[in-house]
Amino acid sequence: MAKQTTDIIERSLQSLLGENSFLPELQDEARTKAFRSLTAILSTPNHIHKSYLRIARENGEVVRIPAFRMQHNDTLGPYKGGIRFHESVNEEEIINLAALMTLKNALHEVPFGGGKGGVAINPREYSTRELYRICAKYVQYFTDILGPDKDIPAPDVGTGSREMDWMMSEYKSIHYGKPYLGSFTGKSVLNGGSLGRKEATGKGVYYTLRYLLHDYLIENQQILISSECPYAATALTYWNRPLTMAVQGFGNVGSVLATEAYHCEYINNKVVAVSDRNVTLYNSAGLNIPALVQYTATNLGDLPSTLEQVNAAGIQAEILDREAILYLDVDVLVLAALEDQIRLDNVDQIRSRIIVEGANAPITGEADEILLGKGAVIIPDILANAGGVIVSYFEWLQGRETQYYSEDEVIKQLLNKMKATMNAVYPSYLGTGRSLRQTCYNHAIMKLSTNLYIQGKLF
Ligand code: NAD
Repeated sequence: MAKQTTDIIERSLQSLLGENSFLPELQDEARTKAFRSLTAILSTPNHIHKSYLRIARENGEVVRIPAFRMQHNDTLGPYKGGIRFHESVNEEEIINLAALMTLKNALHEVPFGGGKGGVAINPREYSTRELYRICAKYVQYFTDILGPDKDIPAPDVGTGSREMDWMMSEYKSIHYGKPYLGSFTGKSVLNGGSLGRKEATGKGVYYTLRYLLHDYLIENQQILISSECPYAATALTYWNRPLTMAVQGFGNVGSVLATEAYHCEYINNKVVAVSDRNVTLYNSAGLNIPALVQYTATNLGDLPSTLEQVNAAGIQAEILDREAILYLDVDVLVLAALEDQIRLDNVDQIRSRIIVEGANAPITGEADEILLGKGAVIIPDILANAGGVIVSYFEWLQGRETQYYSEDEVIKQLLNKMKATMNAVYPSYLGTGRSLRQTCYNHAIMKLSTNLYIQGKLF
């Protein structure tokens, strides 16, 4: 498994080993042995599934496309995690993302395990019909391991409700007469999807920022004043001050988050920069986010990247190169594109003090330590971007009951769940001096370890 996740899991278990109030039943030799077992279990996936999909292209050529489904751990429930279509998809990346899903579900008390899937293609290079065939083949090849009570995929980078609709339909044909609504989440609303699912991750990411800089602060000012945690100092410094924000990635997560920030009445913030796979757009007075959302909706998801296109979008913005977004002098940098965006080779150029991980693993382990050393506050992926899986869980429940909730109800329940997690995590974050990421991992691992112990898996 990728070293970064394994390292954090090992570090968490190491620190929990010394906390005798956690799993007090286990002491001395038995405790050491049990923690070694936990490390072995949680740092390796349960199953690695790999296939080469045989796909006939429009020109008659047959190609083989690498496809993966990784099932990391199912202690808390059926495996759950997205399917990514991207040319850089590889085995190690998907295992790492599956492990992150196990921990994310445990942290937010979602009754699922962790899985992830991927197909190594650039979807832009395939026709709609070819993409349909890839989705159907993916379900055919992995059909035995998927299902509402086994492993439930969802959209990720390069996939959306269209792909989930196709996949569920294929699953339904193969498993005729069996329950199928819960086999995939992130479906379109007309096809059994949940209202609010599309916006859930972006809204949840923004909510974690808002909660940290506003809601939690209001209720806990005294605790923050006496805490030595860097977050306390940052939150108090930024309290009620206008904040500038840059958002890397303007897809499902980034565009919804930027829209939330644009309309937010709680924090005095403005989005001065956004970026995508082609370009960074910057305006120190704040960008017109609704106009950009409208532009991307009719331009295959891409931001305007030439002066002509910027004018056509009806916005005012300077055009900078794609990477420029990372190095701007802004208060908050939101990473909502891909992994490994801040690394050892560029970490010194980062100027933001608050960094929010909308994407999964956008900061490498080494870069994370350097940023923390400089006092940056990092809201980690495991905490911030769980909105998608939480509402996927609501979608799965709605599919079981064939009773659907209103969008307001979905979003209300989502934010309540995220708030409950933050309230559970922040006291130890403020009290122990550990990073927020490490604190979240510790909580998730405590939950998993307790269940593994209760289920008799440590003998
Ligand atoms: P998406 O495909 O809708 O959007 C990705 C965005 O990133 C696009 O704007 C794209 O142009 C941009 N991008 C691609 N390469 C880039 C690069 N090198 N530099 C800058 N921008 C680049 O994907 P999404 O659903 O918004 O997901 C974004 C991230 O959030 C991924 O890491 C994903 O795993 C994570 N995530 C998504 C969800 C969800 O519900 N969609 C849930 C949890 C986590």
